[in-house]
Amino acid sequence: MDYSPIIGQVWGMLAWFIPAAVLIGLLKSPWAKGHIGELLVRFFAHRQLDERTYRRLHNVTLNTPDGTTQIDHVFLSPYGIFVLETKNMSGWIFGSEKQAQWTQKLYKRTFKFQNPLRQNYKHLKALEATLGANPEHLHSVITFIGGSTFKTEVPANVTQGIGFIRYIQSFQRAVFSEAEVDAMLHALQTGRRTPTLATHREHVQNLKRRSDPTAERQCPRCGNELLIRTVKSGSKAGQQFWGCSWFPKCRTIQSF
Ligand SMILES: [Zn+2]
Repeated sequence: MDYSPIIGQVWGMLAWFIPAAVLIGLLKSPWAKGHIGELLVRFFAHRQLDERTYRRLHNVTLNTPDGTTQIDHVFLSPYGIFVLETKNMSGWIFGSEKQAQWTQKLYKRTFKFQNPLRQNYKHLKALEATLGANPEHLHSVITFIGGSTFKTEVPANVTQGIGFIRYIQSFQRAVFSEAEVDAMLHALQTGRRTPTLATHREHVQNLKRRSDPTAERQCPRCGNELLIRTVKSGSKAGQQFWGCSWFPKCRTIQSF
């Protein structure tokens, strides 16, 4: 009997199975899980915001007077400049436009984190300086990914999941010409720091040097933001440390 067709079939199956198993393994890693929300944001932005109208840039590092700042997503369009900050957090979120600190409740724990609108304000200022654009046409947009629920009324520019797309699309009055959008895209492409690992490391170093408690710090395991936490009880009560914003899915901590 000739087994070669069966062997051929087995090989055919393995050819699918092995990459699939590797892919599933990769997807299960904290790194991938942490980045999936971010990838979905990019995917839906790509699908629903026409690239000819909305020019996209991701992970833009800009120089600021005191170091560098890192912006998740920028959309340049005739309707304005949209600066999107993503927050990968679960649990209940409490906060209002004016509050400096927002609160995350997760099971029975309470965590404070910087009002994302304030955090994004720094990004807007850096962009405004780089582009020389009228601040009126720069719009801050926040989106929470990772399944959190707002328990207080949040401003319209604070969205969930792909809600940021509808917010961006709500601006329909042209304030820039096509040529101006092209010029800004060019200015940003040349004015941004090259998106390399070295740039990222330097950015992290800058943050450490500044030891700015409101600065962004990334989790080395999943890529989400690290937030300042305070030990609630025990012998170390009151001590501060950096904890991953994606807790409890990611339990990375760093000493302060
Ligand atoms: Zn993490």
